[in-house]
Amino acid sequence: MPSYNAGVLGATGAVGQKFIRLLENHPWFTVKALGASERSAGKSYREAANWIESTPMPELAAGMKVRSCKAEEFKDVDFVFSGLDSSVATEIEGEFAKAGIPVISNAKNFRTDPTVPLLIPEVNPDHIELIREQNFTKDGSGWIVTNPNCVVVPLVTTLKPLHEAFGIKSVILTSMQAISGAGYPGVPSLDILGNVIPLIGGEESKIHEEPLKLLAELKDGKLIHTDFPVQATATRVPVINGHLLTVTVGFEKSADAAEAEKLMRDWESPIADLGLPSAPPKPIKVHDDERYPQPRLHADSEQGMQTAVGRVRNANVLDITYVAMAHNTVRGAAGGAILNAELLVKKGFIS
Ligand code: NAP
Repeated sequence: MPSYNAGVLGATGAVGQKFIRLLENHPWFTVKALGASERSAGKSYREAANWIESTPMPELAAGMKVRSCKAEEFKDVDFVFSGLDSSVATEIEGEFAKAGIPVISNAKNFRTDPTVPLLIPEVNPDHIELIREQNFTKDGSGWIVTNPNCVVVPLVTTLKPLHEAFGIKSVILTSMQAISGAGYPGVPSLDILGNVIPLIGGEESKIHEEPLKLLAELKDGKLIHTDFPVQATATRVPVINGHLLTVTVGFEKSADAAEAEKLMRDWESPIADLGLPSAPPKPIKVHDDERYPQPRLHADSEQGMQTAVGRVRNANVLDITYVAMAHNTVRGAAGGAILNAELLVKKGFIS
């Protein structure tokens, strides 16, 4: 069984806490070091973190002293997960990579870098080879891998089998995003209770761009991005966990909803045989009940790692339309990053 020491940067935040919860009993990774801002550094994790998870704070983490996010303070780990605020992630993640400490990040900062893999293991596992193009260290020991925006995860997981079979021509979607996606303390209660906010600043451009990198072809160490228009409207709704999307897709080839639904239902992920502890047996679950998926009922399916799909039907505009949903802080953040780390171990990048 592989065994590695991991650090968590941004450990006190919403995503950082999810890391600590998900890693508590991880068979391969042990949390050895926690980092956050100078506001938290020097305090015990119990004092520094306003714990918002529904299970008790793991004892191991509770007693740890929070460190500053300086690479020299993390020499005792094999790699770090990052749940850092994007205002500081460029500088801190870059510093760790330059110091030879691999970074597996949730932040948006390096997602568009042409040498940084934007990774969903079931969608584009081959893109991890891009790591070899990075120049943070001479010996290749320091590198960065990112996971996509939390809406993009269920979007591209469902688009992948459709794109392979029919070619995507265009996509229109509306996201109904849970408040945990805004971190802690996040959206003021007076803004969100009994309400829908029809704008999430900076979100739509990520939903427009990231699918084209995720579905890119890797050729001679370079990504050739796919090229289809995505039109997104990102909204915030009074749901705690689980981003739900309505997605309408146009295809290059002729295809109908029954064919699309069968493809999503039968889709086997290319990493199914690798034995990664956090990989769901099936990345997509297609629900037959027309009332599903619902965030409260299905966000936790397969430990929050599965994308739920429902209401696949022929569309009046473009070709087909469906509903997709995934847990934003698990599959769309910490759980996705942990699965990335597992793939990186299996492929020999973490040793
Ligand atoms: P959050 O709750 O606001 O947490 C931010 C973390 O960054 C805290 O641990 C904070 O530490 C730390 N931090 C802030 N300033 C710092 C500094 N100057 N130096 C070192 N650490 C600093 O945010 P979040 O929702 O967990 O999101 C974290 C990252 O993941 C963001 O980049 C976000 O865009 C991304 N993400 C979030 C989600 C989601 O669903 N929430 C999904 C995908 C990606 P202190 O507590 O000490 O201030």
